[in-house]
Amino acid sequence: MKDYYYGIANRFKCIAGDCPNSCCIGWNIVIDKDSVKRYKALPENEISNRIISGIHASDNKFYFKNHDNGRCYMLDADNLCHIQRNYSEDMLCITCRKYPRLIYKANDTRLVSFSASCPVVAHYLINSKSCFYYREKKGSFKTVYPVDLPWCKGIKVKIKKYLLEHEEFFGNIDKTRLSVFYNFCSNYFYYRVTSLAFSVASEGTEEIQVTEDMIRKCETEIDVILYGFIDLCHTDSLTQDAFVKLINDSYRDFAHVTT
Ligand code: SF4
Repeated sequence: MKDYYYGIANRFKCIAGDCPNSCCIGWNIVIDKDSVKRYKALPENEISNRIISGIHASDNKFYFKNHDNGRCYMLDADNLCHIQRNYSEDMLCITCRKYPRLIYKANDTRLVSFSASCPVVAHYLINSKSCFYYREKKGSFKTVYPVDLPWCKGIKVKIKKYLLEHEEFFGNIDKTRLSVFYNFCSNYFYYRVTSLAFSVASEGTEEIQVTEDMIRKCETEIDVILYGFIDLCHTDSLTQDAFVKLINDSYRDFAHVTT
């Protein structure tokens, strides 16, 4: 098995109650059947009753209910999870245990990517010189820069061209701000296009390849973030946290549209 890991994999740490944009708000969290069985087998008490009453079934799938404001039924007022707080991480369902990791398998290759709806991941996309790690069989990891990923060969030019085409929208935005956006833009592009290529390949037997459709889709996503970014610059409210929130919210919208 060939393994690729997105660069944040070895340093990701959930900030839990300090998170400004919890992953437990605004999603329909799917619960795997084994976790539902474990919850139903818990000794009956106030804690387990809350878990059971927070589950609903639809189309033969199980979900955690949300309150009207979108907060998961399991999320306490201090943004900590009722299940993890009262039991352990092992008691979480697969969705919550894995998040924000996104794991894809295609033939003999696996990708561990991450969801940009998590602020820790969005910070990484803005601030890092993004890379992937590669491991073949057991052994040490090798750093791979996105342009060197086999399925990304040759697409660097398209990013530059895309940025040039949008130059007119940047107006008088200062260079430091722009460089933050440029850095984010290329990190996001490679990270998303790679996730899309794996996601398509893992559904069938197709080889991992970036198609024109995937490139267009990523450009559309960056466009949406670009207009939000320009708004933030023009109202002079561009803090790093505001930009992170913009990325998180946009990513959630894309995910809801594409699933
Ligand atoms: S969004 Fe990320 S940092 Fe926030 S609670 Fe979820 S995993 Fe943790």
